[in-house]
Amino acid sequence: MLASLLHLIVVLSASGAAAQSAGVANLDTASIAKPRTGDWPSYGLDYREQRFSALDAINVDTVARLGLAWAFDTDYLGGMEATPVVVDGVMYVTGTWSVVYALDAKTGALKWKYDPQVPKAWGKMACCDVVNRGVAVYAGKVFVGSLDARLIALDAATGAKLWDVQTADTQHHPYTITGAPRAAKGKVFIGNGGAEFGVRGFVSAYDAGTGALVWRFYTVPGNPANGFENDAMEMAAKTWTGEWWKYGGGGTAWDSIVYDPELDRLYVGVGNGSPWNRRIRSPQGGDNLFLSSIVALNPDTGQYLWHYQETPAETWDYTATQQIVLADMTIDGASRKVLWHAPKNGFFFVVDRTSGKLLSATPYTKVTWATGYDLATGRPQFTSEAQWVGRDDVVTVYPSSGGGHNWQPMSFSPTTGLVYFTSLGAANQFKEIPYEGRRGEFNLGTELVAKIPIDDPQLVQAVTRRVARAELIAWDPTQRKVAWRMPLPGAVNGGTLATAGNLVFLGVHDRVLLALRADTGTVTWRFPTQDVPQSAPSSYLVDGEQYVAVGVGGGGGNGLMFGLDRRSLPARSRILAFKLDGGAQLPVVPQANGFGDAPPPTVRDAAIVTRGEELYRSHCFRCHSIGGAGTGRVADLRRLPRAFYDNFDAIVVDGTMAPTGMPGFADSIAPNDAAALKAYLLIQAEEDRALREQPQWWVALKQTYYDAVATVIAWLL
Ligand code: CA
Repeated sequence: MLASLLHLIVVLSASGAAAQSAGVANLDTASIAKPRTGDWPSYGLDYREQRFSALDAINVDTVARLGLAWAFDTDYLGGMEATPVVVDGVMYVTGTWSVVYALDAKTGALKWKYDPQVPKAWGKMACCDVVNRGVAVYAGKVFVGSLDARLIALDAATGAKLWDVQTADTQHHPYTITGAPRAAKGKVFIGNGGAEFGVRGFVSAYDAGTGALVWRFYTVPGNPANGFENDAMEMAAKTWTGEWWKYGGGGTAWDSIVYDPELDRLYVGVGNGSPWNRRIRSPQGGDNLFLSSIVALNPDTGQYLWHYQETPAETWDYTATQQIVLADMTIDGASRKVLWHAPKNGFFFVVDRTSGKLLSATPYTKVTWATGYDLATGRPQFTSEAQWVGRDDVVTVYPSSGGGHNWQPMSFSPTTGLVYFTSLGAANQFKEIPYEGRRGEFNLGTELVAKIPIDDPQLVQAVTRRVARAELIAWDPTQRKVAWRMPLPGAVNGGTLATAGNLVFLGVHDRVLLALRADTGTVTWRFPTQDVPQSAPSSYLVDGEQYVAVGVGGGGGNGLMFGLDRRSLPARSRILAFKLDGGAQLPVVPQANGFGDAPPPTVRDAAIVTRGEELYRSHCFRCHSIGGAGTGRVADLRRLPRAFYDNFDAIVVDGTMAPTGMPGFADSIAPNDAAALKAYLLIQAEEDRALREQPQWWVALKQTYYDAVATVIAWLL
């Protein structure tokens, strides 16, 4: 009797506890710190952001049965970077242009949608596509940062807007938001991007209930004549020289902001300098705090606690914004509270999160800017070969500005003890150029890429695939070495998910979602997704069944610039969800055949065409890829209808197509220059026509030859 009574009490209290923690209305700091089994309530699963799902129904023995459960089409075609957040059977996820979708996580049916109506012309203020990495869900609300730098709170049940605040001075400066907000302790934390355009970075905390600003912490100092906001800015200003504030300084916190519930702290990953060229923004040297640093703040007040600067005097676009993972490690017999970080600069960092002290920094990819770190001082040992400022020649540096590792989230399996992330082993070539633009325009003080002296996109594709040296790395943070690595077939790859089923999921360039054995890296399952499954997958439970979901849509910086792939794409980016014995099918992608009817070139003057190419590289390349070819997500400028070329100035300068996402460039392209740009593009169109008329056997023969050439180029670089 007593036993039965106890059993009844246990059952009642257990169900009571479950009822209390279930549902988005009750989602609070405690339930994000320790999520209910089967929920994925925050960007990185929980506050530690290890992205390890304890669900194991899908495992190495059952994964062969994994199939598509459902597919949901978003409103646009473009880069998908959001991790699907799932609470109590409802998925909250974002697509391009910061649109939020709430879906039935079992069926994919749309429950509600919220479009913040970002002005499409603002797209040109995004360095790297109009992407969004997802939402925060907290206390019955869904929070999203919009590309035009607003933070918006929605009713999680209905999608109705509750409040909408402008987080940055977009009237005067091109701030953007692409990162997922994080929520804790009644507050929502958000940063911004824009360091390629001359802004001053900061992170803000807003009251989750009212949208009132609680605190703001700048990541680089402003003009000292205006006074410093706090002691940390006064300290940071001592590490800058010249008149950096006139250039913005950079340091935008555009991705990782992590709350540590054990130590009650917030860690912020800080971005690159603005402009990239350190000599322009700080001509007499200095470390330029807090560029390329992790900064720990008091989450209630925004007060500075400590910082660790990974790349002092950053001048290679080495952001430290990449995902921060909280962990515990035994080092020299003692248990340490640490954070793990694999930022762009190519080193895997282990930092004591109580003190900010560097515990280890180990290269995970080819690195030429530093030979290592002095653990006593925490400072890198720089090489002279990577110092490109003040030189006349072209300087090659590894890793590239795309990062040894970038925003693609990494995951950790406590079962294998390994951290999984996708990496690029590419180089950047820097060539100093004058800072001739104005603040507010894309301007780096260096050539963005070395001139690629090849016209044939077939060859470009072969070269970029090999030169990217993409791979999945399984990193052992204890042994400080690669446990295993798997080469990947191109530059556009996704984040990872590790599960208790001894699996790692990730999407790769060749438009497939893969499952690998987490211990050995053996591929155990693959599903063709028609476009790149680029977001990090998440896993969740509905009605006792385990699902894996991922955003499918190539894009982002690499996707727009180097995602060359001539195969047709679906009309929209999608969310796909998989479960055991799922039998849904994706619709067949119609073959695209629009070759346009560009007129023949009328201007062939080499000086004019070269000027056109320069303009193309500084204003158009980062969305329209090499030679105007696009990557299927934005227009192939060689294959547009004649009307585009007839109305070239109106579209490109005046912005008559701005509502579709093609902004005008009246502020940076003069009428004469527009003519040069048009001349360059018409020659690209003519060359494209010539290539299309080649017989198939010749194209195939060239491919073999180009692959060999690309292998040699990759070996030489
Ligand atoms: Ca950057």
